[in-house]
Amino acid sequence: MDLYKLSTIKEICNKFGFSFAKGFGQNFLTDKNILEKIVELSKVDKDVSVIEIGPGFGVLTKFLLEKAKKVISIEIDQRLKNVLEYTLNDYKNFELIISDALKLDFNKLIEEKIETKRVVLVANLPYYVTTPIITKVLESNLNLESITIMVQKEVAQRLIADENSKNNSSISLFVKYYADITYGFDVSRNVFVPSPNVDSAVVYMKLKKERFEYEKTMFNLIKNGFENRRKTILNSFCKRNIEKEKIIKVFEKLNIKPNLRAEKLSLKDFQNIAREYENL
Ligand code: SAM
Repeated sequence: MDLYKLSTIKEICNKFGFSFAKGFGQNFLTDKNILEKIVELSKVDKDVSVIEIGPGFGVLTKFLLEKAKKVISIEIDQRLKNVLEYTLNDYKNFELIISDALKLDFNKLIEEKIETKRVVLVANLPYYVTTPIITKVLESNLNLESITIMVQKEVAQRLIADENSKNNSSISLFVKYYADITYGFDVSRNVFVPSPNVDSAVVYMKLKKERFEYEKTMFNLIKNGFENRRKTILNSFCKRNIEKEKIIKVFEKLNIKPNLRAEKLSLKDFQNIAREYENL
């Protein structure tokens, strides 16, 4: 069954009386080449278990199942249970969890259901859940090798933004702290059914293991700095228990101009400021 073909999608909709739920961001991929490229980017092989979020009719799941040891897919829409039992019936290495990925305990899932050392996450998700999912997964410090995720093109550009560029933001610094991120490729809105209003891109994040000792202070500084990104860092930094007098001393010591905007600072700068601040 070629699940990326329009005729197959229509057939399944008829068979199960299924209609696309806009609220769940159901735009399904119809391009074999893109599906193969996502799987290639995710570096899946027979030593790898995959956690997939949002399988839909299972079009990407099927390509992953061909390559991986096991695929566990998390889908919010209960109506898709019967559909996926039908479309992926031949695959003994498939498991479905009907749940909202935002509420799921991923640590427990990995502990209870995965036997391989290598685990990756792959997702083609609705745009409104991508940032909360990325944040949740990265913060959970999961035993994950990588995340391959399709996001709105503008979000992808923001995520990979160079430090010291206009697109530098708290989310791009957040992601850079937890992962080495690379831009995979663009995906046109025309390869989805129904077609969304925006183009997409796939990004690959290779998760880092090492953590920074003063992580909490660093994240407070990042949040403070970008909440009011037009303010100077001297004015924006002093919230969430960050004291002005101490910050002035830190800037002097590190030779950082207090009238800069947060977007001019790199992750390394934020780490240096946090370390110096905590050791004053
Ligand atoms: N993987 C399929 C593809 O590539 O064509 C479907 C992708 S579609 C953009 C997003 C899928 O995520 C839908 O099946 C939708 O029901 C599911 N979904 C939406 N929100 C979710 C959530 N919070 N947790 C789990 N699945 C979700």
